[in-house]
Amino acid sequence: PSGTAAAEPDEALAVLRRVFGYDSFRGSQAEIIAQVVDGGDALVLMPTGGGKSLCYQIPSLVRKGVGVVVSPLIALMQDQVDALRALGVRAGFLNSTQDFEERRLVESEFLAGELDLLYLAPERLRVESTVRLLERGTIALFAIDEAHCVAQWGHDFRPDYLALSSLHERWPDVPRIALTATATEATHQEIASRLKLQDARHFVASFDRPNIQYRIAPKDDPKRQLLQLLRAEHPGDAGIVYCLSRASVEKTAEFLVKNGVDALPYHAGLDARVRAANQSRFLREDGMVMVATIAFGMGIDKPDVRFVAHLDLPKSVEGYYQETGRAGRDGLPSTAWLAYGLQDVVQQRKMIDTSEGDEAHRRRLGQHVDAMLALCETVECRRVQLLAYFGQPSTACGNCDTCLTPAESWDGTVPAQKLLSTVVRLKRERNQKFGAGQITDILLGKKTAKVIQFDHDALSVFGIGTELREAEWRGVARQLLAQGLIAVEGDYGTLVLTEGSREVLGGRRPVVLRREPEKAARAAKAPRE
Ligand code: ADP
Ligand code: ZN
Repeated sequence: PSGTAAAEPDEALAVLRRVFGYDSFRGSQAEIIAQVVDGGDALVLMPTGGGKSLCYQIPSLVRKGVGVVVSPLIALMQDQVDALRALGVRAGFLNSTQDFEERRLVESEFLAGELDLLYLAPERLRVESTVRLLERGTIALFAIDEAHCVAQWGHDFRPDYLALSSLHERWPDVPRIALTATATEATHQEIASRLKLQDARHFVASFDRPNIQYRIAPKDDPKRQLLQLLRAEHPGDAGIVYCLSRASVEKTAEFLVKNGVDALPYHAGLDARVRAANQSRFLREDGMVMVATIAFGMGIDKPDVRFVAHLDLPKSVEGYYQETGRAGRDGLPSTAWLAYGLQDVVQQRKMIDTSEGDEAHRRRLGQHVDAMLALCETVECRRVQLLAYFGQPSTACGNCDTCLTPAESWDGTVPAQKLLSTVVRLKRERNQKFGAGQITDILLGKKTAKVIQFDHDALSVFGIGTELREAEWRGVARQLLAQGLIAVEGDYGTLVLTEGSREVLGGRRPVVLRREPEKAARAAKAPRE
């Protein structure tokens, strides 16, 4: 008989205390666990640090048979299993890093009923022999971790996850619990339909992480900005610095080390042993700063990460939320700081244009970037905007940069028209592509070599924008972009007009911009490059 008998209500609590050593459940843990113990399906949306693991670990211990956990985090399975074994839980895993012997041992433990939990990489379930193995044992439940990976709409789609829809057909009586820390309403619905969880109970916790202070600043020598942040607010603290490229990971880590910060690099191009060593130093030593691409962090459970800094614009709000969520799992005050500039948008558009996949896929990627831009340029509370993106209404938080120093807005209609007119003038020069830099130089009346080469000092718009500083013009361009009033195109970030630009140029649409913060005073001691 497959173990569907309802357990005593207290049994879960007893396991929480006896095995995990905690007094009581948090948030909806008790309800979620009861649902699964009783044999029902559950879809759980809970922020990082909310305590998702216990939601499937405890039912696996309470129910008869083995809890099968599907997770894409192959690199962490050994650690997770070791941690469970240290608590006396009989756990094992099957993934591609094992040799035949190791796999065979786990398989025989599974068949002998000597396991409580079995972690599986999703691609294992595509292998018929794994499915046959599972059919020969007793399964307590299926847990699908990082369930947003099944959603094509989301930011982290993994094709192997699509095969998980078949679990329900093969094992109709085994309860399933899908969990994720990041899902918009659209992703949430897609998870439910792809995993055939329409009849599941949905548990949606608040995504708010009140101890994280969100701050987004215009880019202005980002490594120096970062160093200033670390020296002023986070000396000796552990943190993660995200960069888009491997090269900038290396350069930034070097820069920090030169300036006395204990920083380590992490990206997919490093030797696997170096990566593993850096990861374990970050986890085990105090006050290490990990400089990484987004390859780093999923599933990393380090409670005292005091800051997460982004030196480049994340590709989506979901990605941003997930990455910043690695700060402050212990509930203590932490900082999420992001620097972004126009160049980030140019770079992302370029990556989207050259990305694989069909037109619909590229359009989706573009929409993700647009939403991220809107978050960067909002004059409202960042947290309100962030939570609204996940369909959760809230009120101004008092713990983000726009709440703490309210952004002033100003009427930017005239500067917007000047900038757009310049784009119009340059458009007439066939085959020539100019980005925001050239446009700013023209507006400021700068006779740079490139301005002279193209006779741009002869344009009627040359020098008509001296009322703003260069950084302010950059801000105007960025904000117009965020509002869809211009667009960027091609390799060099050529600015092009949109439908909205024409309304602005025609005087039919006023433009409200947020004032750029005063250039942060340069640190007294200029950092060494
Ligand atoms: P998530 O997977 O949602 O990010 P975890 O399952 O890793 O979160 O849990 C985060 C931390 O909270 C872990 O250190 C975990 O042991 C702890 N935790 C979870 N539930 C409880 C609880 N009921 N009481 C105390 N600590 C808990
Ligand atoms: Zn706020």
